[in-house]
Amino acid sequence: MAKLNIVKIGDDTLRKVCRPVEIITPRILQLLDDMVDTMRAADGVGLAAPQVGVLRRIVVIEVEEGSVLELINPEIIEVKGKNEGLEGCLSLPGQWGIVTRPMYVKVRALNRYGKVVEYEGEDLLARCFCHELDHLDGKLYCDVADRMLTKDEIEELRG
Ligand code: ZN
Repeated sequence: MAKLNIVKIGDDTLRKVCRPVEIITPRILQLLDDMVDTMRAADGVGLAAPQVGVLRRIVVIEVEEGSVLELINPEIIEVKGKNEGLEGCLSLPGQWGIVTRPMYVKVRALNRYGKVVEYEGEDLLARCFCHELDHLDGKLYCDVADRMLTKDEIEELRG
């Protein structure tokens, strides 16, 4: 178990397209464990492998405490509706934006045992699926945000 360093905006790693995982090796399993530790230590609800400097299609999500989703080679297979909401990212500390995402998202991925799994999410979980999967293609939420919050708005949010 280890906490990894989170890559911040400006680093090229965040702009690369990640490669799929072909074989789930012990190293990949270790990475999953470390990513969960790192996400929790940073108080995040999701983390993608490029955010810890690894260009592989791996995401961990914990929107509901204690319910960790580990997604290897994830794909969005269904979306429904629209949902405008606040979004942040561990790689863009101190920033927030308003982003329109689908209200419902279904993803298909491999779990750590190499089994195909499907997860459905609404609202925050749907948002999280979109945000984290975007990371795997080098996309950040600030690229797709309706707008970023101003300093005053962020202060109001904190207060
Ligand atoms: Zn992010």
